[in-house]
Amino acid sequence: MEKRILALGGDGIGPEILGYGLRTAEALARQAGIKLIIEQDLLHGASWDALGTFCSDEVLQKARQSDAVLVGAVGGPQWDNIRVSGGAEKQDGLMYLRHHLQTYLGLRPARAWKPLMRQTPFRSGLADTADVLILREMCGGAMFAQERGQRIRNGVRQGYDLTAYDEDEVSRFARGGFELARERRGRLVSCDKSNVMESYKLWRTVVTEVAQDYPDVAFENMFADNCAYQLMQRPGDFDVVLCCNQMGDVLSDLSAVYAGSLGMLPSASLSANPASGPVFGMYESTAGSAPDIAGRGIANPVGTILSIGMMFKYSFGLPEFASLLENAVEETLYYGILTPDLGGEANGSEMTDAILARVTG
Ligand code: NAD
Ligand code: MN
Repeated sequence: MEKRILALGGDGIGPEILGYGLRTAEALARQAGIKLIIEQDLLHGASWDALGTFCSDEVLQKARQSDAVLVGAVGGPQWDNIRVSGGAEKQDGLMYLRHHLQTYLGLRPARAWKPLMRQTPFRSGLADTADVLILREMCGGAMFAQERGQRIRNGVRQGYDLTAYDEDEVSRFARGGFELARERRGRLVSCDKSNVMESYKLWRTVVTEVAQDYPDVAFENMFADNCAYQLMQRPGDFDVVLCCNQMGDVLSDLSAVYAGSLGMLPSASLSANPASGPVFGMYESTAGSAPDIAGRGIANPVGTILSIGMMFKYSFGLPEFASLLENAVEETLYYGILTPDLGGEANGSEMTDAILARVTG
């Protein structure tokens, strides 16, 4: 079997963590007997500086010819305020790829790890069993507002991003969520602000309609503010949480609190429902480019490493490698080989070595 990965380092710690991810992919591929064809290219700031665009047509083309895309991270203060005419996808290389590849189903799993519980602010026993899949809609909502900008309104400056979701966007996403809940513990909470906003009233209506097709999944609608509170109050009770683009962005970072560090969280953004077989996806750590620690070699590699496990599971149809990696990470945590964000002194490369040594045996 041959698999193509397009690897885009991006900015800040991106190229560094991308390297750990590629080493992981190569180690797993050797075990699986897969021939990997890896191509590297530029994204976002690195692309802007070299080519004057956040994502080139060539990169999009290469992504379309790949089985999966691995992204390091993008962004940094020197690019965050560059404005290009057009929508959100023109301002950001990652948003460009999400939009054009329609990777609408964002999986952001976050779980508690016993050896890291003392790193968290939770009192003993409260979050030990937390294992939550935050699902983030990746291609619509306020972040991809068609009507957006800044203007003068009644003599004062106004910024606006018109939030809109159509029923097809919500239903394809919700279906993905219910299918994934079936594979897990069979529980799904959809969060919204339908008490105050029209776009969320439609969201709730459509998700509730889709829920009728999944009577075996325990389903509940919850207001998003309360959901954030409950998630921290009793994280062990949640399984799958369905969120719009913006809420999913926030709740996924929030769920890093019981995982011990933002650097622990992987993600997959899939272009189709994975229930019926392998699908194209983009894989990346949930965190950003961490300019505060870039260039020091101390970034936590785990989010990217576990993203490779998700790639093997969802894009290559080899779910056993995701569990293999998760076990290797857990053992490494028990052994205490930890980057500074986890309270240790290892660098990212040493932690990666320790994890991969446990994969290859
Ligand atoms: P961030 O996620 O980059 O960092 C937040 C905090 O988490 C920082 O203290 C950072 O040091 C820490 N952190 C993140 N990843 C880590 C890792 N692997 N190991 C150890 N610590 C880690 O968020 P920010 O500082 O608000 O944003 C920085 C830039 O990243 C911005 O330009 C933003 O636009 C961009 N961003 C990109 C993505 C992405 O590439 N998907 C996501 C979020 C933010
Ligand atoms: Mn984010």
